[in-house]
Order: sequence, then C-alpha cells, then structure tokens
Amino acid sequence: MARQLQIRLLTWDVKDTLVRVCRPVGEEYANKARAHGLQVEATALGQAFGQAYRAQSHSFPNYGLNRGLTSRQWWLDVVLQTFRLAGVQDTQAVAPIAKQLYEDFSSPSTWQVLEGAENTLRECRRRGLKLAVISNFDRRLEDILVGLGLREHFDFVLTSEAAGWPKPDPRIFHKALRLAHVEPAVAAHVGDSYRCDYQGARAAGMHSFLVVGPEPLDPIVRDSIPKEHILPSLSHLLPALDSLEGTTPGL
Ligand SMILES: [Mg+2]
Repeated sequence: MARQLQIRLLTWDVKDTLVRVCRPVGEEYANKARAHGLQVEATALGQAFGQAYRAQSHSFPNYGLNRGLTSRQWWLDVVLQTFRLAGVQDTQAVAPIAKQLYEDFSSPSTWQVLEGAENTLRECRRRGLKLAVISNFDRRLEDILVGLGLREHFDFVLTSEAAGWPKPDPRIFHKALRLAHVEPAVAAHVGDSYRCDYQGARAAGMHSFLVVGPEPLDPIVRDSIPKEHILPSLSHLLPALDSLEGTTPGL
C-alpha cells in the first residue's frame, strides 16, 4: 500500500509548467498581422513583445487592476506597444489585430499541454492530494484549462487577476491556503519561475519545487536550491514528494 503523504495540497503554476503556447509569440503576432494585410518579421515582433511585456508589467503590475485598467485593455496595450516597437506606428491598423490576438490567446487551440502533465495530475489525485492553480494569469485561464481538459483535476483556479496580487506576493499563496483549508507546512507549490514560484511559495511557508526545461539552469539558482527540489520533468514530482516526508519548508 502507498504511504500516506505528508503533503495535502499541491498548487500549480500553469504557463511553462503544465501548458505552453504552441508557437512562439512572435510567430502568432506575425501570422495575425499578415491576415490583416501587414507584413512584420516574426523575430522582430518576438523581441518587441518581450520588451513591451516587461515595460507594461513594470508600469502596471498585475494587469493595472488598481490603476483602473482591465486585463483585456492591459493586453491590447501590450500588443499596440509590441507593434510600435517593431516599427508599426499605425494604431488604427493594429487595433483589430490586437483584439483578434486577445481572442486567440483565450482559445485552447493556441496552447498545448506539456508532456507528462496530465498523467502527473491524475496520479496526484489518485493519491488523495488536493490540487489547485496559482497563476499570474488573467480571467481567460479557467476556460483555457477547461478546453485543454485540465480543469477537472483542480479544486480551484486562483489567478493573480482574481486574487488582486501576483506571485511572488505571499498574499496570493495565503489566499490559496485559506481556500483549501490547509496549513502551509503541508502544502507544496510547483512552478518554473525561481522567483515567483520557488521562492514565492517558500516565503509563504510552503514547500516548493522548480520545474526546469532543457536549458542549463542559472548557476546562481542551481547552487541555491537543494537538488531534490529541482524537477527535470514532471515525472520526477511524485518521488520528490515522497522524499519530503518529515521535512519542514524553509527558504
Ligand atoms: Mg510559469
């Protein structure tokens, strides 16, 4: 018989932990622009997107919700800025592209489930764990997860838009713990961001694991995390959970 796990709640990041975009953002933007009669290089759009997204997140954190923006308006502005940085100054030409892209990124067909995600979630459920999402995402997430067939695995989906705070703010983790009626010491978070997921959850008193991709880990990050908290793939999660028995979370 399987051992009773000490962990009762497992919270999950979504983007690049369980799902990812099917095509690079620059390509999506370039395809949509072409469909609207605008030729713009995908590489230029990809670079511009990174810049626009960082600038918008810095000026208007968490979708600018306490500055009077809606998450939709926030995203439309990111697209306008992206095209502007890629050399397209005609706002009127870009506005319908932005609206279309907002719709496209709401659609499950733009996203793909990462390998091993479904099996891991199912196995966690089978072991009696409560599962929930904690994601710096907007209101579209719930429908995307439904469309990808993942929503059924989670007790609830908590986005930064709904919570009012983005990770790594400990308040979003505390809100999830309250919703689940679980103490932080018996909860663990899984995600691919060292700062938002791994450190954020630990600052809230939870255990956490860092999902890593094929690229080499930043040596500073690698040296600051115990090896057993690093997941080279999601299939490493259950053994890692077993080895947490009797340990206490710490930064
Ligand atoms: Mg992520």
